Amino acid sequence: MTGASLVCGPQQKAGEGLTKMHPNVLQHFNAGRRGVWEDVPDEKWQSWHWQQQNRLRCLEQLEQVVRLTESERYAIQADQKFRMSITPYYAALMDVEDASCPIRLQAIPAKEELHILEEELEDPLGEERDMPVPGITHRYPDRVLFYTTHNCPVYCRFCTRKRKVSDPESARIDHAYFENAIQYIAQHEEIRDVVISGGDPLSFSDGQLDWLLSRLRDIPHLQVLRLGSRNPVTLPFRITDEFVEMLRKYQPVYLNTHFNHPKECTLEAFRACQKLVEAGCVVRNQMVLLRGINDDPATVLKLNHLLLLMRVAPYYIYQCDLAEGISHFRTKVDVGLNILEHLWGHTSGMAIPHFVIDIPGGGGKIPLLPQYVVARQDGRTILRNYKHQTYTYLEPAEELVPLPSSLDPTKS
Ligand SMILES: *Cc1c(COP(=O)(O)O)cnc(C)c1O
Ligand code: SF4
Repeated sequence: MTGASLVCGPQQKAGEGLTKMHPNVLQHFNAGRRGVWEDVPDEKWQSWHWQQQNRLRCLEQLEQVVRLTESERYAIQADQKFRMSITPYYAALMDVEDASCPIRLQAIPAKEELHILEEELEDPLGEERDMPVPGITHRYPDRVLFYTTHNCPVYCRFCTRKRKVSDPESARIDHAYFENAIQYIAQHEEIRDVVISGGDPLSFSDGQLDWLLSRLRDIPHLQVLRLGSRNPVTLPFRITDEFVEMLRKYQPVYLNTHFNHPKECTLEAFRACQKLVEAGCVVRNQMVLLRGINDDPATVLKLNHLLLLMRVAPYYIYQCDLAEGISHFRTKVDVGLNILEHLWGHTSGMAIPHFVIDIPGGGGKIPLLPQYVVARQDGRTILRNYKHQTYTYLEPAEELVPLPSSLDPTKS
């Protein structure tokens, strides 16, 4: 990871507007080299259309960027429904030599993906089962998940929706599909929060999103609009001034993004999040716990501290799902609990997300915490703190303790 410099060349440009922050703080952000795209002019590099058009989709293209291992080469060429797609911006963050680079592991297909275990599921969260109309998963009482597109700038190899994402045939998403889904939300007054998801909804144009958000804002009972997008991480240039001005009209808009590693915290990502926040969005992060990428407390701590600097609040750490061909990414539940153990008490509460398991088969999200309650009996709760010291909390009695007569006005 290269440190950000405020003095030279393109890096100076990258730090612009963020320079009120002390250079010692700013240097923790990845300055994001351009690698083989060094000579691409800024207007192109920073254009999200250019980035989308120049996504790496085949072996020949990726080979020019990193030194691929035999295993990567094999997996890229294997016939997989879940495609490869990597923006030049994200690819440039990759380590050219080291195949264990966290960016490479997230975006380059691996042989292990071809190995599908018996317990793995095509639809690990049972999302299709809770679908009253195509595209809407209505599992919780007051909120729905709205699947809007199969498209993402980068296809993350561990994607829980890999059965659909990347595959244009996965759903017939046309005008009627949207009308139908919007109508469902409009007819269900209990829905106050809609998660606009996919795929990545920021794959749509500003105009299309403007249309969708305005239609949703017209629904009287809908309070919160949420976008689930990894664009701040994989294509930060998508967050343009025009885009955030459009969002401003529909506040409150929450944007949940998906940083998994400190290396993804570049100055470009910082700028993207800053634009979102300054347009009034609440930006939060949903990290997925991934073996060999972020399965240790130090990495998560560093990531969360950088997120707070970007005004992105850590929201969830997800236990990796049982999607097909991602067992090599999965960690033991204890790994997540151990991470929380190293966060609680040791750092700001703001840097501590909820650790959740989205239960296979549609059970929903369940929060987990290390065990802080040692024992409970007779109105006493014995607790241990982050230093493993034990304390007792005395609970109030069922009945209020009577006031002493000296304080009781009826007795004087
Ligand atoms: C995760 C999820 C939501 C949103 O849950 P929050 O805990 O409110 O973030 C809504 N619907 C479905 C089906 C989900 O999986
Ligand atoms: S951005 Fe999200 S939906 Fe798209 S591939 Fe990655 S994890 Fe899946």
